[in-house]
Amino acid sequence: MKLRSVRGTHDIFGEKIEKFNRISNIVSTNAHLKDFNEIQTPIFEFSDLFSKPLGEQSDVVLKEMYSFEDRNNEFLTLRPEYTTPMIRAAITNNLLNDLPLKIFGIGPMFRRERPQKGRYRQFNQINFEILGTKDFLADVELILLSNNILRQLLPKSNIRLQINSLGDKKTLINFKKSLTKYFNTHKKKLSEESIKKIDTNPLRILDSKNDEDIEIAKSSPKIYEYLTIEAKKHYENLKSALNLLEINFEENTNLVRGLDYYCNTVFEYKSDNLGSQDTLLGGGRYDGLIKLLGGPDIPGIGWAAGIERIELLMESEKKINSTVHIALTNEKFTDYFLYLQKYLSENRISYYWNYKYNLKKSFTKANISSASHIIIIGENEYNGNFFTIKNLMTGEQKELKLNQVFNHLNDKSR
Ligand code: AMP
Repeated sequence: MKLRSVRGTHDIFGEKIEKFNRISNIVSTNAHLKDFNEIQTPIFEFSDLFSKPLGEQSDVVLKEMYSFEDRNNEFLTLRPEYTTPMIRAAITNNLLNDLPLKIFGIGPMFRRERPQKGRYRQFNQINFEILGTKDFLADVELILLSNNILRQLLPKSNIRLQINSLGDKKTLINFKKSLTKYFNTHKKKLSEESIKKIDTNPLRILDSKNDEDIEIAKSSPKIYEYLTIEAKKHYENLKSALNLLEINFEENTNLVRGLDYYCNTVFEYKSDNLGSQDTLLGGGRYDGLIKLLGGPDIPGIGWAAGIERIELLMESEKKINSTVHIALTNEKFTDYFLYLQKYLSENRISYYWNYKYNLKKSFTKANISSASHIIIIGENEYNGNFFTIKNLMTGEQKELKLNQVFNHLNDKSR
């Protein structure tokens, strides 16, 4: 059998791990600036945790979860999203005594989707949540945070923030009723997928990618006609605050988000450079979810962003490698080389040697690695008790005594 990785999974190394670490660092820095605490939850949970709130009809539950029965007949699921495990962790660890609770996490999620560019079966998400406040300022804080993180990671990318309001329970009941009625009268032109959703989850027809569905959705009832006074106020306050903060946004009345538990504010960041999987980040309010999971009746809001999609838009950082390469040309000079190694280690200078005893190969490797300097050990150096150090950026070459090496490498003008 040929050795291979599972479809839709990938190993992270080289440039990707560098980007991954850069993303994690920027996320943590921004999280701490706004006093969010990190939580890591297990990658599997009891299946009920997800099937109950995600809604029996949502795509994730119907076909995308990796679920299995454990030896003692417990049904477990690899987490497909982070919000429910975070809430579970907040409840089971009694973190909801001091509200609001501001938490964040970074880690892998699992969904059995059809793999394509930007869509994998194991992928990594960044997740932020604020539990315990209805205040529109929490929506603003989370959008501001997502904006800061994405702008720092993608300073040149053309990303767009879209927002919408799904209103409260009353809004949604009335809106769903009128959507069902409208789509039933246009049933013949809808895609098969959408026909199935008319009675169960008509909101999802609004974000269908099928051209005919999109055309029909254009004239469908609009949610803002159904917003209650309170929901309208929440939405208007949010928009004014975003304007004040000079955060550009578009209103998209068809933005509904995939999961059933959203209400009031929903938002997404999209990019035109990602192909069909164009959503980088998505979030919204879920005021009834914590109670549904067995916690207190408190509101919540959060967002999740896909690390792999951010990486696709990130530029590689052109870095000068500070590791000094060493070219040892002959085994005869091993002791002299060890003497250099001891010095470099004691002075905490990182170095690399390719075990090749070959000047040309050492130079080639140093150039490929973008090393700034190479130290040469050959006949002349050994006999004269010095080391030749070449700056690979400027071409300048110096013959130095060992005790001069540290200062030379740390002199920024060299
Ligand atoms: P969601 O939980 O579906 O709202 O997803 C939040 C974010 O996670 C999306 O905006 C994507 O950036 C990312 N994401 C979701 N599903 C996948 C996937 N299968 N592969 C890679 N990234 C994903």
